[in-house]
Amino acid sequence: MAEINPSAIETLRSRLTTATVLTPDSDGYQDSLIRWSDTGRKQAVWQKDSWDGVVIQPVNVADIQSAVLWAQEHSVDLAVKGGGHSTAGTSSSEGGLVVDLSRMTHVSVDVPSKTITAQGGATWKEVDEAGAAHGLATVGGTVNHTGIGGLTLGGGYGWLSGQYGLTIDNLRSARVVLADGSLVTASETEHPDLFWGLRGAGYNFGVVVEFTYQAYDQSPLVYSGILGYSPDKLEKVIEQLNGTLANPDARSGAMCIFAHGPGGSGPMIIVICFYNGTREEGQDRFAGFLALDPFLNTVDMIPYSVVNTLQNPQATYGDRKSFKGIFYEPPLDPHFMRSVFDEFMAKIQTDNDLMPSAIILEFIDMRKICETPLPATAFASRNMTQNGILYLRWTDPSKDLEHRTWARSVQAKWKAELETRKKDLQTENDVPQYINYAEPGDSVVTNIYGENLARLQSVKAQYDPNNVFHKMHPIPLFTGEKLKK
Ligand SMILES: Cc1cc2nc3c(=O)[nH]c(=O)nc-3n(C[C@H](O)[C@H](O)[C@H](O)COP(=O)(O)OP(=O)(O)OC[C@H]3O[C@@H](n4cnc5c(N)ncnc54)[C@H](O)[C@@H]3O)c2cc1C
Repeated sequence: MAEINPSAIETLRSRLTTATVLTPDSDGYQDSLIRWSDTGRKQAVWQKDSWDGVVIQPVNVADIQSAVLWAQEHSVDLAVKGGGHSTAGTSSSEGGLVVDLSRMTHVSVDVPSKTITAQGGATWKEVDEAGAAHGLATVGGTVNHTGIGGLTLGGGYGWLSGQYGLTIDNLRSARVVLADGSLVTASETEHPDLFWGLRGAGYNFGVVVEFTYQAYDQSPLVYSGILGYSPDKLEKVIEQLNGTLANPDARSGAMCIFAHGPGGSGPMIIVICFYNGTREEGQDRFAGFLALDPFLNTVDMIPYSVVNTLQNPQATYGDRKSFKGIFYEPPLDPHFMRSVFDEFMAKIQTDNDLMPSAIILEFIDMRKICETPLPATAFASRNMTQNGILYLRWTDPSKDLEHRTWARSVQAKWKAELETRKKDLQTENDVPQYINYAEPGDSVVTNIYGENLARLQSVKAQYDPNNVFHKMHPIPLFTGEKLKK
């Protein structure tokens, strides 16, 4: 990777029209490096007589085109920042160029076609709120400050997935700045190969400057909120969660969180419940949960956009974080779950710096997602396997390796449990990990793209032959070509 000298920066500035250019000596540069997790933040480095590292914050597509070409002319590492939630630093660069899309967040709604078009740096908050203003919603993330960029390009699960599938199943088109600087529209009819690759491996092809999503009529209020249980109810809560998938309802979803309560209130089990219907329908659906006498119950009729804020207090910016995906096919074994719960609580009680950590388990009706054939998009984990996250949060950087190693051991136990169960169930499904819950280079599967890999390699060769976009789960190039580090 080349050093960025002052004259190269001057060249960059001269080619940009309205983008803010930040170098390490600029006001605002340090702020521009902030990511959701401190582990995702990368610093520029001082090299001899010049600073390496530049961030641009464009407000138009032309500046992105110029920057992408400039980076290649100067052999400079290129990173694209959407919402900045990568814990592995894939939207950051150590001494290269960051195209930070945080000023490109405009969202518009086309009511007749029920589509929502959002710029590549928007978060789900903007999309949820713009849709809600017109009685519409699309499938977005369950924590509303997450970027639409990374979440969409890796697939995207949300509370509406039971009804409408993945985020990518509702992506109608995307406008992309490619490595050669051109701006193209990708859709079923324009650059269909690129459109296919964007849906599941999308960080590998360019800078997506605009996404257009199909939206749906959404009633103003849904039945949702938080239920809190003491640890002795674990087996009964798991039984109820298993029941939601044994008796699936596309309008319903649940999330189960193992965490320590605020203010030293001790271990607890949280269930976030969701029903896209009336209070009566929701109460009926979650009757078994309500009968377990939760010590906390905030469930009510609330706006859909507010559902996606319920986890925000636990998902704040700051500290060091690791996201390790875990995978399971309910029914979950209550004995296994008890061992997971006890081991996790013992760990965070022994090392108090880990106290804000959590295990988050999703219970989504996957039937709609599985209606789309696997080869129809690049998304490789389209099956009945549910996704969870071992979410570790700590402050001491010297503990990074230790905590990640422990997280891997927990992840391995879940994988072993799934494999045992799949043997019992005699299913043949491959289980590639959900790409957005896998830190690159640290996946539990060797080929995260599964059977879509060969086609992805050929689309990559067509649209980004020099591997300019290689940060997040790089597509291994055809044999003989070396991946950039
Ligand atoms: C708190 C939290 C909640 C989450 N909830 C969900 C959830 O409900 N459902 C779900 O499916 N996933 C969820 N995720 C996972 C999430 O999908 C990924 O972390 C995703 O990569 C975040 O995208 P981002 O744009 O915020 O992150 P970034 O760090 O900005 O980007 C991640 C990767 O995508 C690339 N990228 C981002 N935007 C663009 C763009 N416009 N063009 C090209 N490349 C781009 C970046 O270069 C980077 O490699 C959650 C993650 C967190 C941290």
